[in-house]
Amino acid sequence: MKISIIGNNLTALVLAKVLLKKKIQVELFYDENTTKVSKTVRTIGISQSNVLFLNKYFKGIEKIGHKIDKISISTERQRNDVLNFENYNNFKFAVFKYEDIYKFVKSSLKKEKNFKTFNTKLDKKLIQKKYLTSYDLIIDINLRNTLSKKLFFQKIKKDYFSRAYVTIINHKQIKNNIAKQIFSSSGPLAFLPISNTKTSLVYSIFNNNSSKISEEKLIEMIKNYNTKYKIISFEKFESFKLEFSLLRNYFKQNVLAFGDRVHTIHPLAGQGFNMTIRDIKYFLKLLDEKIKYGLNLDSSILEEFEKNNKYKNVIFANSIDIIHEFFKFEKKLPEKLSEKLFIYFNKNNIFKKYISILADRGF
Ligand SMILES: Cc1cc2nc3c(=O)[nH]c(=O)nc-3n(C[C@H](O)[C@H](O)[C@H](O)COP(=O)(O)OP(=O)(O)OC[C@H]3O[C@@H](n4cnc5c(N)ncnc54)[C@H](O)[C@@H]3O)c2cc1C
Repeated sequence: MKISIIGNNLTALVLAKVLLKKKIQVELFYDENTTKVSKTVRTIGISQSNVLFLNKYFKGIEKIGHKIDKISISTERQRNDVLNFENYNNFKFAVFKYEDIYKFVKSSLKKEKNFKTFNTKLDKKLIQKKYLTSYDLIIDINLRNTLSKKLFFQKIKKDYFSRAYVTIINHKQIKNNIAKQIFSSSGPLAFLPISNTKTSLVYSIFNNNSSKISEEKLIEMIKNYNTKYKIISFEKFESFKLEFSLLRNYFKQNVLAFGDRVHTIHPLAGQGFNMTIRDIKYFLKLLDEKIKYGLNLDSSILEEFEKNNKYKNVIFANSIDIIHEFFKFEKKLPEKLSEKLFIYFNKNNIFKKYISILADRGF
């Protein structure tokens, strides 16, 4: 069995590894210009069950993530925690520097015999007729090439009119195991610890025009909300325009669309890559069934994948969107009513347990 992967981002490499473990030959095509990995300040929070899944394929990966035991949520008006989620005997999620996890995953692929990579002009390669017929399946994660433009162009889209600014703060040493999200008047600001002296910041700021906010202004805004860290310095800022986008079809012929561009969501709940890991888990389950019964890999596996995962991803992505809209709406509620609402939710252990399970494992 032979599968081709298009793209070489984190999703592509994780997928390659899990397929190789199933004794499938993997050929990966990428265009060097599309992947910029080194020296980025981006981080990814990965839920407990997904960290444990990755650890099965990449022994020791959990050690490079910083474990978070508690998540606290506050708002512009109520700066004390209005909601908190805690795990008493285990971590809730772990925060990884993107660069570290990418390198870890990449180095584990070095010794794989059934794995080949090709750095090529994607658009030229993918239009060749024989490319499509040379593999049982093709998994396109790049989704910005001539092939995907032809096969996967229908999307549901929404502009958040927001930009996410990410950076890392270096600060005085503290016990740093609590992640904090503040739903500020300018947008959600997350503090995600990555060590006892470093914390990653994700600040998603509403902005109707596409201009960027200056670093000086951002630092001033962040300092206004920071009550916990004695900040020594800020690393560089990176920024991303935020949108919600869901692909209408997951496959055509023997080509499967996969990864973040299939379901792009708001980063406020740190779930984008977690959704992709859940997709990988389900794809593996289908693969195991095919292998167990000695069946060929063909588009039927893609059909089943779409049938099971598309609606779950639509519900999940929309739930994140509802949270985003709720906190926008909350600002308009009378303060007393808002306070009562949060007290009710924070005391409701069934609600909190259900939200925690959803964030960890999805539907
Ligand atoms: C600001 C932000 C914070 C996020 N935090 C989390 C999280 O805590 N947990 C989680 O599961 N998912 C998170 N996501 C989604 C996650 O980043 C993507 O699912 C993941 O990067 C896919 O990685 P990749 O290498 O497979 O794809 P790539 O092709 O490398 O990236 C896919 C997309 O990731 C986004 N991205 C690019 N740079 C950054 C960056 N510096 N930080 C974050 N995202 C970036 C872009 O929108 C890009 O289109 C976040 C997304 C954004 C925009």
